[in-house]
Amino acid sequence: MLSYRHAFHAGNHADVLKHCVLMFVIDYLKQKEKPLWYVDTHAGAGAYDLNSIEAKKNAEFSGGIELLFAQRAILPPALQLYIDAIENFRARAPHGYPGSPWLAAHLLRAQDRLRLFEMHPQDFDILQEIMVHDRRVAVAASDGFAGLKALLPPPSRRALVLIDPPYELKEDYARVVAVLSDALRRFATGTYMVWYPLLPRVESARLPERLATLNHNALRIELRIDEPRGDFGMYGSGMYV
Ligand code: SAM
Repeated sequence: MLSYRHAFHAGNHADVLKHCVLMFVIDYLKQKEKPLWYVDTHAGAGAYDLNSIEAKKNAEFSGGIELLFAQRAILPPALQLYIDAIENFRARAPHGYPGSPWLAAHLLRAQDRLRLFEMHPQDFDILQEIMVHDRRVAVAASDGFAGLKALLPPPSRRALVLIDPPYELKEDYARVVAVLSDALRRFATGTYMVWYPLLPRVESARLPERLATLNHNALRIELRIDEPRGDFGMYGSGMYV
């Protein structure tokens, strides 16, 4: 039974970090003409309404995208790609926020392919509806950890994989390490991105170190928005690329 819904967190500081890094990486990989495969093992709904009851419950977006968007006139040029994408999305959905599949589809080219996994039935339906007319995209309502195995190596031998689980289940930490280890064996030259929360719990603290044992050619990016407090609450997040 899946209880996590990304609609409660859409556009928060963690999404901003993850989506900025995602866009930098896609933009970099587009320097080569050869087709690129984008695999999103935990795709979410692909689009969110920040006026929804879910999003407004804790209004996490006010400490994320809304904070950044309000400063868009003075942001460094590196963030322009992300801001442009948000503006493009908002031209059709003024109170919306895009998810990783939409952002990737927006930036990728005709020759590229997207493979998306989402297990929550409601979020899967929304995702499928958004992507149905895009012939580059295939969406599966199945386990992204297992689905990744079958896709590697991709036919074009170029792939970017985003692994972005909810970590509500403790097993997600171990599964991330196992799936990345397996993926690197199957396809060592792929580009992999793992999002992780900064939480005052041992599994969270150990995850980046465990990932570092798998590959030394990596970048670890963290955004801390608070001090760790007690034994509860996310005080930031990271991307392991
Ligand atoms: N990547 C999305 C983005 O950046 O817009 C957000 C994804 S959200 C953090 C995690 C999603 O994974 C949830 O929508 C949840 O339903 C889904 N999920 C949980 N376990 C899964 C699994 N084993 N395989 C595929 N999807 C899963």
